[in-house]
Amino acid sequence: MVKGRVLSGMRPTGRLHLGHLFGALDNWRRLQEEYESFFFVADWHALTTEYAETKNIRENIREMVLDMLAAGLDASKAPLFLQSRLHEHAELHLMLSMITPVPWLERNPTYKEQQQELTTRDLSTYGFLGYPVLMASDILIYKANYVPVGIDQVPHLELAREIARRFNHLYGQVFVEPEALLTEFAKVPGTDGRKMSKSYGNAIYLADSPEQVTAKIKPMVTDPARVRRSDPGNPDVCPVFDLHKIFTPQEKRDSVIDPGCRTAAIGCLDCKGVLLQHMLPVLRPIYERRQELATRRDIVQEVLEDGSARAKKVAGDTLAEAKAAMQI
Ligand code: SF4
Repeated sequence: MVKGRVLSGMRPTGRLHLGHLFGALDNWRRLQEEYESFFFVADWHALTTEYAETKNIRENIREMVLDMLAAGLDASKAPLFLQSRLHEHAELHLMLSMITPVPWLERNPTYKEQQQELTTRDLSTYGFLGYPVLMASDILIYKANYVPVGIDQVPHLELAREIARRFNHLYGQVFVEPEALLTEFAKVPGTDGRKMSKSYGNAIYLADSPEQVTAKIKPMVTDPARVRRSDPGNPDVCPVFDLHKIFTPQEKRDSVIDPGCRTAAIGCLDCKGVLLQHMLPVLRPIYERRQELATRRDIVQEVLEDGSARAKKVAGDTLAEAKAAMQI
């Protein structure tokens, strides 16, 4: 029996890496088994910060969808749709904009943070300020019961709940107040020890072959204090060990890696060898599936068309209900 409806989306950033796999896709794969799930490519959201640089969006969508399917999203179970194919999201966004006070948006913690961080772009735009309203529209139009989020995204969800409450109060009960499905995500370091990110050039991609993964892991940054092979190390400060926590069974970490590192019984290259023994059997099937999917020219278009048509049925019904409540 399904436990309710879930919605989640991702901006089309191009090829996905292990940070996306363990920060979202692995969770989505589990959710699609237990909940009625809708997943989407948030291309309108990409415009809120990337409006001046749109030439790669279509290619990014294709690459990302191939990765999503290769990672195990089953589009026959959970529709995978393209946000911009559903004008219903935009219409509801406009309607919700009418009832959302600007101070609610200005107090959004990521609004000022991102404006300060992304200094190469002018983010004083109307679209950027209003993106939480678009996000609310994405969620509310499916009457989603749950949205999988990390703790940092809870304020956005709270805003969607406030907008739903305000609408329901003004026009009558239409929207469901979505709840956070709080998820703890594993720490995924990049090969230089910083957070894995395309912009740092430290990412391991789902599209990387086993040989490419091996070539990236071998020179990976380790405990900086472990200079010589004979120096004992500290796995607690080593990014390679963070990857062991994801891939290597705990029993082996506790009996071989952790004590071996602390006593210098194993060297970093041996340690990375053990990591690869556990990492490649997980990543190889994803890589091979992706290779096979990439040969099917129309697969991405077919999946998105089918997913968008299925999503449209639900979104269209809710939009009609909201319009009737608003008497427009
Ligand atoms: S032995 Fe492993 S855990 Fe220890 S410092 Fe080297 S790579 Fe890191």
